[in-house]
Amino acid sequence: MKTIKSILTLAVCAGVALTSCSEDQKLNTNQEQTVYNKKDLKFSYGNAFESFAKNTKKKHRLQVFQDINETLDGYRIAQVEIYDVAKSPEAIDNVTVIPIPDASSNEYRTGFRFFPNDPRRNGRDNLTYITVSEFSTSANGVASEQIFDDMYAVWENETNCNNVSIDKQDFSLDINGLPSSILSFGDEPLGPFADNNIIGYIPSFLFDAIGASASTLAVTFTFAFTDENGVSTDINGDGKIDTSHTEIWFNDSVNWSNDGLEPGSVDVASVALHEFGHSVGLDHSGTLLATFDNDGQFTGELNYVPTNVMNPAYIEKPKRDLAGDDNAIYCENFSAWPYY
Ligand SMILES: [Zn+2]
Repeated sequence: MKTIKSILTLAVCAGVALTSCSEDQKLNTNQEQTVYNKKDLKFSYGNAFESFAKNTKKKHRLQVFQDINETLDGYRIAQVEIYDVAKSPEAIDNVTVIPIPDASSNEYRTGFRFFPNDPRRNGRDNLTYITVSEFSTSANGVASEQIFDDMYAVWENETNCNNVSIDKQDFSLDINGLPSSILSFGDEPLGPFADNNIIGYIPSFLFDAIGASASTLAVTFTFAFTDENGVSTDINGDGKIDTSHTEIWFNDSVNWSNDGLEPGSVDVASVALHEFGHSVGLDHSGTLLATFDNDGQFTGELNYVPTNVMNPAYIEKPKRDLAGDDNAIYCENFSAWPYY
């Protein structure tokens, strides 16, 4: 007989908040080439990728982000969410652990928020995102651009407060260049191009370079606007730091899948939906249950309680439907949009 020995309030989605309080080439593409050649692309961007990794090698994660922030003007990295796969309590112990907010705290949003009509985002009352087509197919062949579109559409349309449009913006790697505020480190920073910038699948060594790991699935960076002194702003006075933009990476070395059914594979859609939730200001909710037998041995069984998309674990099965908590927390941010 199995008994539930303990509730593990562990997050395997490690958050690093960098608030103002705590620290104060063009790609030559062959027009006739319809099949994206990742080797050529990596060669083209190899210098940017490799110089980033070289510059950040062996530094502590916080130091990496502080160094990047010194190169940015008008905004800074404010939060980093690293999403790892959960397989066993032992695996969980090996990753940075943060507590999931207490259920009584009623605060499952991040401390950062886009606000409508922000003049620094051109006064728009919608949200935008881009995908990079050339980086949107994983190394193991999962074409994901449509999946990314579908998952932003879930947040846009499948809550009880679909007041905000989340619109795809035209983007061309060829014309616009690398749309990353992180990977331009060492060069003149570019962008941001859209509110939410899905960089796509990038090499595993870049995850190492930011202090993540080979088992990291994806990372979402949230950037905050800063004033002339480099301090994060809240110009609309809603108690949240004003989000400038976000940037989302997927680890190219993961065994990605478009259905998540094959053992050991990871469902792209489930991870994208979670990351995009962070990009629109949701934090984690829910807990993870581990089941132990009468001898106190872990049975290998982990379960979400409840099955929130924003529950910060991935347990080897797809999780594509918004739960009640996801809906409610999203609506805390957007039910009054575009007014507040
Ligand atoms: Zn997360």
